[in-house]
Amino acid sequence: MKQSINRRLVNKVALRLSQCLLVAVFWAMTYSIVKAFEQNERAISVLQYHHVSEQTPFLTSIKPEAFEAHLDYLVQENFQVISLSAFLQRIKTGALTEDKTAVITFDDAYASIYETAWPLLKERGFPFSVFVNTQAVDQKFKHSMSWSQMKEMAVDGVEFANHTHSHLHLIRKHEGETKAQWLARIRGEIEQTEALLEEKLGQSHKALAYPFGEYNPEVMTLLEEMGYVGFAQHSGAVGEGVNLQAIPRFPFGGYYSDLDDFITKVNALALPVGLVKLGVSSGEIEAGDVLDDLPHMDKEDWLYLHDEAQPAAYFEVPLTVQQSKRITCYASGQGRVPLALVGQADKIHGFLVETVKDAPVGRSRFNCTLPSQWSGRFYWVSQPVIRLAANNQWYPE
Ligand SMILES: [Zn+2]
Repeated sequence: MKQSINRRLVNKVALRLSQCLLVAVFWAMTYSIVKAFEQNERAISVLQYHHVSEQTPFLTSIKPEAFEAHLDYLVQENFQVISLSAFLQRIKTGALTEDKTAVITFDDAYASIYETAWPLLKERGFPFSVFVNTQAVDQKFKHSMSWSQMKEMAVDGVEFANHTHSHLHLIRKHEGETKAQWLARIRGEIEQTEALLEEKLGQSHKALAYPFGEYNPEVMTLLEEMGYVGFAQHSGAVGEGVNLQAIPRFPFGGYYSDLDDFITKVNALALPVGLVKLGVSSGEIEAGDVLDDLPHMDKEDWLYLHDEAQPAAYFEVPLTVQQSKRITCYASGQGRVPLALVGQADKIHGFLVETVKDAPVGRSRFNCTLPSQWSGRFYWVSQPVIRLAANNQWYPE
């Protein structure tokens, strides 16, 4: 009798100990996750504009008043606006200690930058940079700045970087072209522009904004070999450990011009995502599902064949139970899309998002956000996808 009481006591103690251990493991895990997010509670936002004008195409233009409202917000909130070269130095040398910091960039060297944006930026003492597709300048395309205007700006401290010579689709391999020929062709485009910027403006930053925001793993590797940093155009803030060949930027213009939208984005944080895996939707997940294992996700880049109409994306990021309930994802043209957690209820490794309708042909994206438990700011991550047209052809742009 006494023995069995002792045994029961031992069992009880053992059970209690294992429960304590589980709780301790759970808290240790939660603590390490919280720590990772806390470290990312500061970020730099890279802002992308094209035209600042009412006369240019709606989708790539911001009205001067709206642009001015963005700049005034940065002044009022004491944002630090840093130049492209200062930004490159920060991200190449490791730890990001900045917060409330923005980098202002323009793509395509349009005339309204010289005429309208530059005076507004100069008035506020804000540095900025322009990614130039040099053929448009050389051949004096409509709406393009001239070399002499750009020289005048360069002398005043404006920075100019690479947007390729002909503004080509880097990932479109020509018919019959080998991989080596394709890579040699795009390397030539990048080198030609860098040489022209050096010759005409005396600048070489080795920073490339991908035309149309399009790149893939091979283009990223080429850039890395060439010693270039690559700027994309899917939204997101820059946090610790950002991929140097896929720097996210927040694009503004068209429907994305108003001040409220700007305030959310310029204050965004980087969701500390490790791997992103892509695949095709199973069509089976429902919001709130917790999956033990990740289904097969094996796409190598974000290009989808025409019949792979419904993309899916997995984002690897350990989440606390509380965070996992607050993350939301949207897909272009589909609004909020279902999201399943992957792992066990108390040990989430990441989340899987699936489209529920066919993605549009061309470029689209997933956007996911999570409100910060400390500041109410949003952790942000975005993943581009491209769907080819019928017969797996490239669509006209
Ligand atoms: Zn462009």
